[in-house]
Amino acid sequence: MSPLLSLDHVCSGYGRIAVLQDVSLSVGKGQIVSLIGANGAGKTTLMMTIAGMPRLSAGRIAFDGEDISQMSTETLIRRGIAYVPEGRRIFAQMTVLENLQMGAYFSPPSKYRDDVEAMFTLFPRLRDRMRQRAGTMSGGEQQMLAIARALMARPKLLLLDEPSLGLAPLVVRQIFDTLVSLRETLGLTLLVVEQNARLALSVSDYGYVLRNGRITLSGTGRDLLQSPEVQREYLGGGL
Ligand code: ATP
Repeated sequence: MSPLLSLDHVCSGYGRIAVLQDVSLSVGKGQIVSLIGANGAGKTTLMMTIAGMPRLSAGRIAFDGEDISQMSTETLIRRGIAYVPEGRRIFAQMTVLENLQMGAYFSPPSKYRDDVEAMFTLFPRLRDRMRQRAGTMSGGEQQMLAIARALMARPKLLLLDEPSLGLAPLVVRQIFDTLVSLRETLGLTLLVVEQNARLALSVSDYGYVLRNGRITLSGTGRDLLQSPEVQREYLGGGL
């Protein structure tokens, strides 16, 4: 399968603080790939580096056949990379509809109505709450809105940072079911950072383990779920 995204020997960090060291990974078109690791391993830094901030200090990132290592975040959004950050960062004081409008900032205005309608079909709760202030919705609804807002940019690749954070197990399950269906209905490719390694790996084609800024293990979701290291360190001691 041809990779949509590939990182080759990427190093990145914040000023003199080196976080990612020699990270290589690839995400095939239409795949769900998850990235697991302990707090502070560098998962968010990896996602943000793909999204253009911070910039990589060494290596190369290619997306859809192009070297994107030096592209601005705006150009990356236009090329088809959308990022749903940890903690969702929706605009709490704005309505659901206004949040979706913000997500469409770089999309063709002629597509706006169709795209909003498509989001309301994918996420019917958002239609019901269209005029409600986003900050008054439940955590699960806010996560759905954060995903829908990212999809308004018509991405090919969706980067999701900790979609399950702070949500009840049943809601987390719904979010992951939604992610799997997005891959099917929109042909989307997904790279997901997730603390709930068991759930993430169970829906992933492939996974990577990040430790202290380096990839230490990779394999199919199924292989990683059976790996003794993953079971010991990320699945609470066994299946
Ligand atoms: P978590 O699961 O806690 O979000 P993570 O795996 O996503 O962890 P990062 O947030 O990427 O890890 O952090 C990796 C390292 O980079 C940590 O040591 C962190 O303190 C440091 N770091 C993160 N953001 C900054 C920043 N803006 N400036 C300096 N150092 C940072």
